[in-house]
Amino acid sequence: MSGLFGAINTSDRKSDIAKTVYYGIFSLQHRGQESAGIAVNNNGTFMVHKQPGMVADIFDDVTLSALGGECAIGHTRGADKVIGSDGIQPILIKSRVGNIALSSDSSILNDDEIRDDLKNQGAIFQTNTDSEIILSLFSRNRIGTEDSEHALLETMKNIKGVYSFVLMTEDKLIGVRDPYGMRPLVLGKKGDTYMLSSENCAFDALDAELIRDIEPGEIISISKEGINSLYFDDAKTSEQRVKDGNVCIFEYVYVARPDSVIDEMSIFDSRYKTGQALAKEHPCECDLVIGAPDSGNAAALGFADGLGVPFGMGLLKNRYVGRTFIKSTQEQRELAVRMKFAVLKTQVKDKRIAIVDDSLVRGTTTKHIIRFLKDNGAKEVHVRLASPEVKFPCCYGVNASTNADLPATRMTVEEIRDMIGADSLGYISLKSLKEALPTIHCGTCSACFDGNYIAGKPCPKTDSVHNVTYN
Ligand code: SF4
Repeated sequence: MSGLFGAINTSDRKSDIAKTVYYGIFSLQHRGQESAGIAVNNNGTFMVHKQPGMVADIFDDVTLSALGGECAIGHTRGADKVIGSDGIQPILIKSRVGNIALSSDSSILNDDEIRDDLKNQGAIFQTNTDSEIILSLFSRNRIGTEDSEHALLETMKNIKGVYSFVLMTEDKLIGVRDPYGMRPLVLGKKGDTYMLSSENCAFDALDAELIRDIEPGEIISISKEGINSLYFDDAKTSEQRVKDGNVCIFEYVYVARPDSVIDEMSIFDSRYKTGQALAKEHPCECDLVIGAPDSGNAAALGFADGLGVPFGMGLLKNRYVGRTFIKSTQEQRELAVRMKFAVLKTQVKDKRIAIVDDSLVRGTTTKHIIRFLKDNGAKEVHVRLASPEVKFPCCYGVNASTNADLPATRMTVEEIRDMIGADSLGYISLKSLKEALPTIHCGTCSACFDGNYIAGKPCPKTDSVHNVTYN
């Protein structure tokens, strides 16, 4: 999972667009905390600065001023597999048609097949990332096509999987969203600067306006000459392309920031509505509703409202905890959770607590949290989940779990309740979760709940890479 941001100044004035992109990826930090980078175009000269770590630790004023730029793209990355420092994005190449930089949020299912094919034709790869495959295909296709957009159209025909990416050529900023529309990508504007972003929360931070979502299968290119779009399936109307799209439902459940809007549905509102529906489906007798910080808070508010029970604070999250805990033993795992969460004793003591979380994947953290709440005097702890049971692994890069990690594949709800030590446990149904998205125009991917892999499954060779088994 990654955060993408790109910006281009369409006037002739010199710009320092790297700073705009810095604030863009800073606002998308929740989409990935392992590495970040910015690539800039200064009148045809490309530069990149990228490192492992968080955005604020990687860039300072001096670096950003040195980058300057009239067009730039940025990236924040989560870790789904070990990529090494060469794989940190954006990736820059010098091709026969000039400099190109790419930031992608992708999961290419036929990656091994394409890589082998390209290697057999003499291509050299320095990383094991999808991005390099996209770039390699693009630069090859670009030789025989009239422009970058048509080269990308050919590239989209070559790759299977899900992706959004932003690409920078010497005169254009280009955004691409896969025909399934599984990963979000939006267009925004401030003055004569156009922006592409994974989420519009980055536009709000920059005081820019959200223009629209990029359509599934759209290639949008922005330059000083204007904005143009090409479509993977141009026989369809715009309305049909959106209707046929399937955005990842986990964007609404967990991934996106609550102040973002995807396909005209506010993330906060969808979570609040999910909480209200959860109160109807799985009510409980309790004195206080709390959210599992921070992603359970919006649904917890809706749940409290639906039950007519006060919403309050019961847990605090330490935002400054690094990701370096050694978690190989039970004791170390427990310590890591204790470092991450603190219980507000006076709030939970002698109360029946309902805790609402966005989802339960492995259940390890939830189990520790319930223990802490009970150790601190909670009389009962009822767990409510704002997503259905995760029964299938995601092969599209959002969740790296395998079947073996998912308790819902081998245990009943009652057995999971017993394993985590809750007094009761309730999951929202998929039907209610989908009904909590009343204003979206596209469909949703919900494969991790129903096993319906809309964009297909990995080719046999990549099954072993992802270590995924299917029912
Ligand atoms: Fe999102 Fe689940 Fe589909 Fe993966 S399988 S893209 S997490 S809905």
